[in-house]
Amino acid sequence: MKAISAYAAKSDDGHMEPHDIKRRAPGAHDVQIDIQFCGVCHSDLHAVKNDWGNSNYPLVPGHEIIGEVSAVGDKVSNFKVGDTVGVGCMVDSCQTCAACEEHLEQHCLNGATMTYNSKLDDGTGDEEEITQGGYSKRIVVSDNFVLKVPENLDKAAAAPLLCAGITTYSPLHQYGVKKGMTVGVIGLGGLGHMGIKFAAAMGAHVVMITTSEEKAADAKKLGAHDVLVTKDKDSMKKWRGKFDFLLNTIPVGHDVNPYLALLKYNSTMCFVGAIEPLKAVNGAYMIGGRKALAGSLIGGIKETQEMLDFCGEHNVVSEIEKIDMQDINQAFERMKNNDVRYRFVIDMQSF
Ligand code: NAP
Ligand code: ZN
Repeated sequence: MKAISAYAAKSDDGHMEPHDIKRRAPGAHDVQIDIQFCGVCHSDLHAVKNDWGNSNYPLVPGHEIIGEVSAVGDKVSNFKVGDTVGVGCMVDSCQTCAACEEHLEQHCLNGATMTYNSKLDDGTGDEEEITQGGYSKRIVVSDNFVLKVPENLDKAAAAPLLCAGITTYSPLHQYGVKKGMTVGVIGLGGLGHMGIKFAAAMGAHVVMITTSEEKAADAKKLGAHDVLVTKDKDSMKKWRGKFDFLLNTIPVGHDVNPYLALLKYNSTMCFVGAIEPLKAVNGAYMIGGRKALAGSLIGGIKETQEMLDFCGEHNVVSEIEKIDMQDINQAFERMKNNDVRYRFVIDMQSF
């Protein structure tokens, strides 16, 4: 095992600092990747601050990874040294349960191994028993969890596709978003801006639903046809009952009733952001309009590859601000203050 440079949180105080980690030598089915870029997801910040109460320290976040293959195991046939590849939120699953058989590894009945903060059951008891993510120079991943990145995409701007991309593509795809539908994307951040791009590429009439009036011009540039500013009561009234589908990326618990009122009868609002309790929902709104509330967690590996191929075909990437690894603390601070346009991506050459 070789020491690999990384940045870690050592406690829940939110501070990131340099920290060496170990990576295993590639096994027969492993792909060793020298990381070039890693996106900064709001989930990284939630994990660093222990918002979900399950963080293990030291914690190296990062699950929007793009890099170059630097070694492969004997049994790896679909990747070779020099390939540009991606790794998202998962690095392993049992591959045999009903969920894995349905290509829904994120719902593996034996528990998927997440890219960071997952306990590894390798029995060695050494330091690598907790997975460590992409805020590091290198990662070793089982070939089933490595994605091919279309060559026409800018590598840095493609990194966020591995989480923000699949997390928004998957529900839009699952709920059959297409031409003729009016789709609202709630929250213009890392996930939301990808939601706009995908929904527009799928042919829907896209409405950006935001708390930030000043993001309206950006929303239009990203592909939104209309913008609904939630504090404008008249606009909220105007859009009542108009949406065929709502994708809600708000990162915290919130009052869902005003959004539920925007749905057309027989339609769904899917949550991807608030991984925590939501305030009371008025059942009358749901029953009255046969409306549904749903949730969605990233996407399976097969669907993630489909999403990347879709991006290659439609030239879809993220709007990014490249940062040095050393600037991660300021980036987290700006993310807390809703000051990201629209994804930070760490350039790993910077350290
Ligand atoms: P982000 O870049 O910080 O964007 C979140 C956006 O939500 C903000 O830009 C803001 O948009 C809006 N917002 C923030 N606070 C709000 C509040 N109190 N009320 C209403 N709107 C608010 O975050 P992100 O990286 O997109 O991640 C969003 C959430 O998704 C995070 O909680 C993350 O953990 C979660 N996530 C889930 C999955 C999954 O698989 N389900 C995967 C990745 C991330 P406006 O200024 O436009 O209002
Ligand atoms: Zn993420």
